[in-house]
Amino acid sequence: IHLADEVLARLRDVPDFPRPGIVFKDITPMLADPILFGRVINAMSAPFRGQHITKVVGVEARGFILGAPVALALNAGFVPARKPGKLPHRTVIERYSLEYGADGLEMHQDAVLKGERVLIVDDVLATGGTAEATAKLATQLGGELVGFSFLMVLGFLDGAKRLGADRVRSLITL
Ligand code: 5GP
Repeated sequence: IHLADEVLARLRDVPDFPRPGIVFKDITPMLADPILFGRVINAMSAPFRGQHITKVVGVEARGFILGAPVALALNAGFVPARKPGKLPHRTVIERYSLEYGADGLEMHQDAVLKGERVLIVDDVLATGGTAEATAKLATQLGGELVGFSFLMVLGFLDGAKRLGADRVRSLITL
């Protein structure tokens, strides 16, 4: 069986979360299976092996869970992009609009150095607002954006086009 189908079988659709009308893709059943989780991390890392990634940026919160093991798989460092007010040191901030509301993301100002090759990791790409804000933070600090690795792209929302489709990889497209 194809990995994508095995993963799809371990994602849970949660209707009306976090708001009425949204069907939330819950990844926790996949994470709870160590074999499947490991295969997912391998598949999310594979397209970027040999591309000299030096930093993997994971987006709060599910991007931390997937991004940290991807960083280790690529021998890269890990950088958290967090909701405003959570990071302890000096930060840069980007505001953006979300499928359900408006938000912002912060990164430590010394998290990405000039010329570093950056991969951005998150679980789901929807409108692309979150990933685009993360990319702006990394490039603002002088990073070179190599690409984006998602578990799942919700294709009907055109998020990949917004990010540059050639730089976007994902295991599953819905
Ligand atoms: P976007 O900014 O692309 O519209 O939304 C993507 C962000 O929202 C990601 O950080 C992702 O984790 C979260 N997100 C949106 N919809 C879902 C969903 O159905 N399932 C999960 N797990 N995350 C979602």
